Amino acid sequence: HSSYSKLLVLCSVSTGGLLVYAESNVESGKQVVEQNQPESKKKRVVVLGTGWGGTSFLKDLDISSYDVQVVSPRNYFAFTPLLPSVTCGTVEARSIVEPVRNIIKKRSGEIQFWEAECLKIDPENHTVSCRSGINDNLAGHNDFSLQYDYLVVAVGAQVNTFNTPGVMEHCHFLKEVEDAQRIRRTVIDCFEKSVIPGLSEEERRTNLHFVIVGGGPTGVEFAAELHDYVYEDLVKIYPSVKDFVKITVIQSGDHILNTFDERISSFAEQKFQRDGIEVSTGCRVTSVSDHFINMKVKSTGKHVEVPYGMVVWSTGVGTRPFVKDFMEQVGQEKRRILATDEWLRVKGCSNVYALGDCASVDQRKVMEDISAIFKAADKDDSGTLSVEEFRDVLEDIIIRYPQVDLYLKNKHLLEAKDLFRDSEGNEREEVDVEGFKLALSHVDSQMKSLPATAQVAAQQGTYLARCLNRWDQCKSNPEGPRRFKSSGRHEFLPFEYRHLGQFAPLGGDQAAAELPGDWVSMGHSTQWLWYSVYASKQVSWRTRYLVVGDWVRRYIFGRDSSRI
Ligand code: FAD
Repeated sequence: HSSYSKLLVLCSVSTGGLLVYAESNVESGKQVVEQNQPESKKKRVVVLGTGWGGTSFLKDLDISSYDVQVVSPRNYFAFTPLLPSVTCGTVEARSIVEPVRNIIKKRSGEIQFWEAECLKIDPENHTVSCRSGINDNLAGHNDFSLQYDYLVVAVGAQVNTFNTPGVMEHCHFLKEVEDAQRIRRTVIDCFEKSVIPGLSEEERRTNLHFVIVGGGPTGVEFAAELHDYVYEDLVKIYPSVKDFVKITVIQSGDHILNTFDERISSFAEQKFQRDGIEVSTGCRVTSVSDHFINMKVKSTGKHVEVPYGMVVWSTGVGTRPFVKDFMEQVGQEKRRILATDEWLRVKGCSNVYALGDCASVDQRKVMEDISAIFKAADKDDSGTLSVEEFRDVLEDIIIRYPQVDLYLKNKHLLEAKDLFRDSEGNEREEVDVEGFKLALSHVDSQMKSLPATAQVAAQQGTYLARCLNRWDQCKSNPEGPRRFKSSGRHEFLPFEYRHLGQFAPLGGDQAAAELPGDWVSMGHSTQWLWYSVYASKQVSWRTRYLVVGDWVRRYIFGRDSSRI
């Protein structure tokens, strides 16, 4: 952004109202930007992003108390859990998006929205610099700046290629609606190309080899969707090449879905095996060229070259460049992800909050806190607790750090450490607290961060909106009410995540779910649960109607295979 460095904030306040001037791109002779905004005595909240975090914040914020301005390059909210369904046309792209301006309209239109990308945050001057990506041929400038009293950064994350050569150039990603639409077209391209006359059998096989790198929930769900699309619809219209189709999932770990309960992970692996989806575990992709994926098999150290027709890269998330720049400004340059405290305040600056995938609540003290809770319960300092006391303490810990529960279940820590039974299988009367703490400390580093999910982002958005809504009330009434206040370090209680479970659709109208209360459910009935949960979670009646309509259409007519 060389021209961006020319962006200059000249003046911010005038008598008639708040004027924000930006002289943009002086070299190319564009005009000085002037943006008139009505004077407001209210504090200004600038929100960056209209994803899960930003939208849930906007929905819950009391807009009568704040002047709210929203900046995002997307003028819509996308229901990301249904993106894999868009790749195969099970659900149409427009069915899972809700225009931001519709959301604003419901809030009596008092929120202002600017379709633009934030390029820089200046925490010292409380300013954000933005640029609209709308067609340059249209009249007017593209750059502008906004001042904020409070800034909410909810810009999500970008794909993470781990600097693997060739990934950016040759792979598809599945983060945005446009990505899903591109994948849908490419799948059809692969089939159309493979039926062209004169191709060798090997060429047809290569074109119809679909590779998914990453065996997490998104990769697995996409593989399952693609399998259904191919075998329920495409093989009927391309019968001559049906035997050449192959779907492969490459996973660097030992199992797919390794953040889920082991039962779900092995159920998924068995189902994929029955369906003929190849799962290559213990393999790390080292580079991708225009026709081949190169990968290293961890167990043998051998390098293997795999020909492909389409690759979807679905491995983790990374930080956006302008967020990295912001991290440098606030002294977080050594960190991988923007850190906030438990009240979602960005560390190292004032009045900036961050939520969702772009930030991580710094829970560095997880083990310290857990030790303190145990110490308080272990009154005689014996290092042991009765089984009953231990379970009570564990419950307290899980309320405060729900991720502990996930790790206890997934790693089977309680059973593995023989906490409740001795070597002969007899029930113990007392639990060895130190042994338990030692087991936990092995997964300590993983427990410090919350998962990058819509659930976390949405809960954080709601939490932050509620804090801002109660700000004045708190100041005018410092003594109470205690239910949302804490004493000492901050006016409000810290953010607490409530894990509501997670789903993994596995194709063939089967799904797996991990639900609260240690309940694991798998199979066809779980798919119906998935349908009802995802229909109920839609952000508007309009999208609910469209999504359910798409599901019904797919049942009756199948998926559409036109390459539009
Ligand atoms: P996002 O929802 O990504 O929103 C980021 C917003 O910031 C967007 O509006 C974007 O346009 C905007 N933005 C980007 N750059 C800028 C900028 N420079 N300036 C201003 N605005 C900017 N989670 C679940 O809990 N359950 C699921 O089933 C699930 N399935 C998923 C399936 C897929 C295919 C994907 C990709 C994700 C899935 N997730 C799921 C994860 C979930 O989507 C994310 O955790 C969630 O979107 C994070 O919310 P967010 O608000 O932080 O970011």
